[in-house]
Amino acid sequence: MNKSIKIFAPATVANLSCGFDVLGCCLDTVGDEMIISLTSNPEVKITKIDGANLPLETHKNVAGVAVEALLKAYKKEIGVTIEIYKKIKAGSGIGSSAASSAGAVWAVNYLLDSPFSSQELIAFAMEGEKLASGNAHADNVAPALLGGFTLVRSYKPLDVIKLNTPKDLMITVIHPQIEVKTSDSRSVIKHNVSLQQAIQQWGNVGGLVAGLFTEDYELIGRSLEDVIIEPLRSILIPEFTAVKEAALSSGALGCGISGSGPSIFALSKGDKTATLVADAIRNVYSKTGLKFDIHISKINNDGIKIIEV
Ligand code: ADP
Repeated sequence: MNKSIKIFAPATVANLSCGFDVLGCCLDTVGDEMIISLTSNPEVKITKIDGANLPLETHKNVAGVAVEALLKAYKKEIGVTIEIYKKIKAGSGIGSSAASSAGAVWAVNYLLDSPFSSQELIAFAMEGEKLASGNAHADNVAPALLGGFTLVRSYKPLDVIKLNTPKDLMITVIHPQIEVKTSDSRSVIKHNVSLQQAIQQWGNVGGLVAGLFTEDYELIGRSLEDVIIEPLRSILIPEFTAVKEAALSSGALGCGISGSGPSIFALSKGDKTATLVADAIRNVYSKTGLKFDIHISKINNDGIKIIEV
């Protein structure tokens, strides 16, 4: 046996302001490439990593750990080799680890003629996220695997719902190339919220979900508000407030922290506005002297894509 596939494993934006650990969406123009092969030698091997300095050891790489979880459930002796062509920088806040774990399990499942459901693949990929951040969260791996916007309705039991993607929705992302340690971005979060904050937050989550399904762009914009995490985490991101103001005054529907940062995302209606938003954000960041990347993307409703079989 020697079956092989080359895939595009997309970047994702988690949280989407109001939906900490439960909401996420999938990008179209930013992502890694991976070549996954089945072999008869029953072990999982990372044979190549290009574009990043990441561990080749299977148990230290999220792709290896996620595939091991899948094979444990598959229960037949089989081997897998993984090549990773990294384009998403690790620690960027746009789902670098999630792209690898989701991409790897999706490809192995495809090569095995799909014995597992999407929900099962999400659970395997979450094992990779557990390795990366100590927390088996699904808000990046779910949109990478299902495409579009996703909601984790429940973690126990795992229940992930794919939401609707309004067709003109575009996303602009700036990745300031600074290191925000995951431990720092976790340590600033408070573990208790007031009832008043909770009411505001779940009102916004409901509003965002309703806005996505009814394709009500104004409602989407009004709902992109985070009263719990953003006020605490944004202090770790240089010029966050100025970026947000620039994005909103250029017509963005909303703007917030992507995942645990330092990337910042803005949603817009139409590519013209998304480009204006990118220009405005670039203008703010050019003055800081910091290195940064800006991406403009439509929402990728397919998730992982086959490049070559
Ligand atoms: P992001 O902030 O972009 O979502 P994460 O912080 O979730 O990225 O993941 C980055 C961490 O995961 C780093 O510590 C990195 O060393 C580790 N890691 C292990 N394997 C991989 C991989 N294949 N791709 C990306 N990161 C990986």
